[in-house]
Amino acid sequence: MSLVDGFGRVHKDLRVSLTDKCNLRCTYCMPEEGVDWISKAKHLTIDELRRVITLLCEDGINEIRLTGGEPLLHPEVVEIVKMLNELPTKPEISMTTNATRLDTLADELKTAGLKRLNISLDTLNPITFKELTRRDGFEETMIGIKAAQKAGFEPIKINSVLMRGINDHEAVGLLDWAIENQFELRFIEQMPLDAQHAWDKNLMITQEEIFNMLSQKYELTAAGNRGSDPAELFNIAGTKLKVGIIASVTAPFCQSCDRLRLTSDGQIRNCLFSLSESDLRIPLRNGANDSELKKIIFENIAQKKRGHGIGEPDFVQPVRPMSAIGG
Ligand code: SF4
Repeated sequence: MSLVDGFGRVHKDLRVSLTDKCNLRCTYCMPEEGVDWISKAKHLTIDELRRVITLLCEDGINEIRLTGGEPLLHPEVVEIVKMLNELPTKPEISMTTNATRLDTLADELKTAGLKRLNISLDTLNPITFKELTRRDGFEETMIGIKAAQKAGFEPIKINSVLMRGINDHEAVGLLDWAIENQFELRFIEQMPLDAQHAWDKNLMITQEEIFNMLSQKYELTAAGNRGSDPAELFNIAGTKLKVGIIASVTAPFCQSCDRLRLTSDGQIRNCLFSLSESDLRIPLRNGANDSELKKIIFENIAQKKRGHGIGEPDFVQPVRPMSAIGG
């Protein structure tokens, strides 16, 4: 049976948050002091992860993206990648990371079976990095990116969030750097998913603004053939590369969404912006059998809304922040 919602969307892509903890404090994500972290006891164990993900793969999940918080803070991250790589259905495993720990882990992750990396980086300026992340991690991040290249990860995708008056002037510079390093850069419109609920649409840089900034230097043509990819991709004239824009707010792509989310504490979420989630952890620990667990999953998917509803009068930002849902 496949994971189909009420709008006929077939879910194939599972985003798994391994932890809500992070070693950075990005201003558009969480407050300086952090948030009330999910207790370790509530985190799914590697065996529980294997059980749940095996069930989801049986019903069509074939892509798994490991996220956080920062997934490389999870003490068993390499073992988890190895476990996923040994699943009979052989899902494609990728990861979204801030790269600050890749220096020591890139080779091991590659050997364990990790296929792709999406690396979050919003600036090439160490001072702006500190302003945005409230941490001195710029050098570790750049060393981590080099380690990923050396380990042979290809293609490396870079995710950048532009904030008005902070790093929006770096759009072209980031693309120059990405082209130089053969990275696929994706700009992400900032979404209302911050822990402090301080999202301000006026501070967000829109898809149109990003496209116009980049077009001052580069000739961009739509690459088309988007499928369920969140990013709208553009060919960069004179290169073999593309640049992407993930315009969740101004040009939502919910109609082709194929993503499900599993949080570190065992909740299934059918959408980033879902106001409800279904618990698998307690049933798992109370001895639920596979069909009982699948029933919870299918019922959750059946409740999936057509879209996120940002900008609509009845839009409500979820309580659970992005840092505890995962990108
Ligand atoms: S907002 Fe929700 S429905 Fe829309 S693309 Fe994201 S996860 Fe899918």
